[in-house]
Amino acid sequence: MAAQALHLGWHNPVRITWGCGAVRDLQWEQPVVVLADRAALSADNADFLRDTLGAHCLGWAWYEGGLATVEMARQLCKTLWPAMQRQPGTTVIALGGGSTLDLAKAVRYRLADTALCARTWRHNQLPEVYERHPLWLLPTTAGTGSEVTRWATLWDTDALPAVKLSWSPPDGFAERAIVDPKLTLSCPLPQSRDCALDTLAHALESLWNKKTNPITEALALEAARIVIAQLPILLQGQDAHAPRIALARASVLAGLAMSQTQTALAHALSYDLTLHEHLPHGHACAVWLPMAWELAEEASSDCAILLQRVFEDAKTPGAQQLTQWLAGLGVSPRDLRTSSSGREHLSLELGSARGRNFIGSPAEVS
Ligand SMILES: [Zn+2]
Repeated sequence: MAAQALHLGWHNPVRITWGCGAVRDLQWEQPVVVLADRAALSADNADFLRDTLGAHCLGWAWYEGGLATVEMARQLCKTLWPAMQRQPGTTVIALGGGSTLDLAKAVRYRLADTALCARTWRHNQLPEVYERHPLWLLPTTAGTGSEVTRWATLWDTDALPAVKLSWSPPDGFAERAIVDPKLTLSCPLPQSRDCALDTLAHALESLWNKKTNPITEALALEAARIVIAQLPILLQGQDAHAPRIALARASVLAGLAMSQTQTALAHALSYDLTLHEHLPHGHACAVWLPMAWELAEEASSDCAILLQRVFEDAKTPGAQQLTQWLAGLGVSPRDLRTSSSGREHLSLELGSARGRNFIGSPAEVS
């Protein structure tokens, strides 16, 4: 019997260039401005980039670390927009981790005035007059997948309480993602751990997601299995090269899956921990994964079968194996089901924008 047609609605226009040395092979023929993470770009790579860009480079700004806030993004616009205005069509190049890439996704929409920035990002609505500049993203960490998704996280720390904004214009995808695992070689191990945990969270959140489909499932399963096998090897610290290439690949695979499904419950719960306990994003997501795993298994037998394929040992409960695996990396999972206030918090987040994507959420996906 013929299988019923399944319309995936897959849409991801990002042209991906992949491979060690990909950055050094790039040809520059257009005017660019650069936004780079100062901590992530080695002096060698920065010199190389400046030399090869030469006169094509019209402006340069550094990301200096910290949460990607509305005010930080506005300051970057102030720095880069005058150069971008001089040459219409100037490409924005971003090198760094998720925060740098997310900031570039805001900067590339040049508005008439920086006074319009905050309102535009808060309402996730572009004004009538703006120029959308081409965007090339070069991740220097393996984890966020931001280079292949169309949304960016900005923190509105001027609001009381501070809130997480999701800047997600319909045409927010970059034109190109240049994924060169060599750029991740200098990433410190603790940060590499947190980034890989973010990849694992993207993969699992894509599996226990109401928008999952056979294509995202394949990408997410492969990504999860790579992280589980390779992250402990990387953290042992002997052979950094092979596991870093594998983790960079997992990050793109999970990012592609997430670009179709979005994230779910663990991400919804993570934002509080990042804001109030200052836990890095990947760590803040990972602490909720075993609980979300059990809830997903309870909610859907199809999802339970899928999750059985994440660990090689299909007999031991997956959430238990995940808890042990996380403990080996120094991460202690949390569970909201053990107290009434926790259960209240859980039910609130299951109805949130990201929580509604979770397969165990009673709420409809908007
Ligand atoms: Zn994430």
